[in-house]
Amino acid sequence: MIQALRCGTLFAGTGAAPIRDAVVVVQDGRIAAAGPAGTTASPPGAAVLDLRDRFVMPGLVDAHSHISLVPGKGDQLGQMREPPVPQALRATANIARDLAAGTTTMRVMAEEHFLDVDVRDAIEAGLVAGPRLLVATRGITASNGHGRALSSFDGVDAIRRGVRENFQRGADHVKLFATGGVSSATTTLNASGYSREEIRAAVEEAERVGKYAAAHAHGGPGLRFAVEEGVSTIEHGALATDDDIALMIDRKAWLICTFAVLFHPTGIEQGDAHRPAIMEKVRWARGVVNANFPRLLASGVRFAAGTDSMHGLMAYELETLVRLGVSPADALLAGTRRGAEACRIDRETGTLEPGKRADVIAIDGDPLADIAAMRRVTLVMKDGVAYNGSARRSEP
Ligand SMILES: [Zn+2]
Repeated sequence: MIQALRCGTLFAGTGAAPIRDAVVVVQDGRIAAAGPAGTTASPPGAAVLDLRDRFVMPGLVDAHSHISLVPGKGDQLGQMREPPVPQALRATANIARDLAAGTTTMRVMAEEHFLDVDVRDAIEAGLVAGPRLLVATRGITASNGHGRALSSFDGVDAIRRGVRENFQRGADHVKLFATGGVSSATTTLNASGYSREEIRAAVEEAERVGKYAAAHAHGGPGLRFAVEEGVSTIEHGALATDDDIALMIDRKAWLICTFAVLFHPTGIEQGDAHRPAIMEKVRWARGVVNANFPRLLASGVRFAAGTDSMHGLMAYELETLVRLGVSPADALLAGTRRGAEACRIDRETGTLEPGKRADVIAIDGDPLADIAAMRRVTLVMKDGVAYNGSARRSEP
C-alpha cells in the first residue's frame, strides 16, 4: 500500500529548514520520498492523506520511560512490586496514552517480571497499541540502591550474571542505578550506589554483546564513575556540575532530560505529597535544575528527552526544554532525531528521510512558533499505520 501525506509544513528532523507544502510518500511502512510538493511526485494510486493544515514531523522518541508506572499514584517502587497482571493492565493504558500523544518509540528503563519484553512483543504482534519499545528489563541496582523493587545485584559477579540474564530474556540495553533518586525516601541524589568496578562490569557485559549501558545518575561520584567507566547515557543528571558536563562532552555521553516527573503537578508532587523526605528532595532538585540547566543545555552536551513515566507528556518535556533556554527547533530535535541517536535507533527512525520507518505525527499549530502546540497531536503514524488521537487504528 502506498500513501501520500500532503503536509502544510514538513519538519523532517534532518536539520534542513522546514518545507511549506510538502509531500511524504509512505510505502510498506517506510518512507519512500519526502520533499516539496512541486518536486516530490505522489505515485499514481497512492492513498492521499490531507494534512495541508498541519505541521508534520517525525514521531517522538521518549528516551526514558517505564510502561508500568504512574508517578501521580505515588510509591513507584510499590507499583513495581505488584504482581504482573495489574502492572500489565496499567501498562496497556499507559502506552496507549503515549502513542496518542505522538510517541512512536519509547526506551523502557527498568521493569520487573520482564514485563517490558512481553508488552513489546504484544505491541509487535498487534495485540495492543503502543510505541515501539526498546527494553532494559530488570534494572541493575544495589540492595540499598535507588530503584530497587524486587531485583537487586551486589558485586561484580552478580552484576555480570544479572546483565547476562537480562540479555538472554531479550533486553536491548542495560539500565543501572549509579546514584540515589528523588522518588525513594532513603537515598540521596549524589550518593553512589555502586563502586567503579561494579559499573565497569555492567558496561563490559553490554559492550561485549554489541549493546550499551545507561545509568540513572543525578550527580556526585556515581555520575562521574558512570561516565568514566563508559556508560553511554546519563539519565536525569539533575545535580550535574559544569565539570561533569565537560566530562560527558569529552566522553560523548548523552544527557537524558526528564523534567515532567520532577516539575509537573501530576508527577512526584502529586504522588508523594504526603512524604516529607521526598517532597524536600523535589523542591531542592527543582531549584538546582532551574538554576543550572540553562547553562548546561547550552554547553554543547548532547541531550535528548524522556517522560520518565509521565505518560502522554512528551510535549511538556519539550516545553520545559524551551523554558530552560533551548530553541524550539532544538527541542523538537531532542524529542526526535537526538532521542533516536541516544537510543541507537537512528538508522530506523528519528527523521523523515527515505528508507526510515514511517513514524510520522501531525500537529495542529506551529511548534516552532509556540512549542505548546505539541500538545495538539492529531495524527500518529507508526511503521506506516495511522492511529487517530485516541490511539485506535484508523480504518484504511
Ligand atoms: Zn526512570
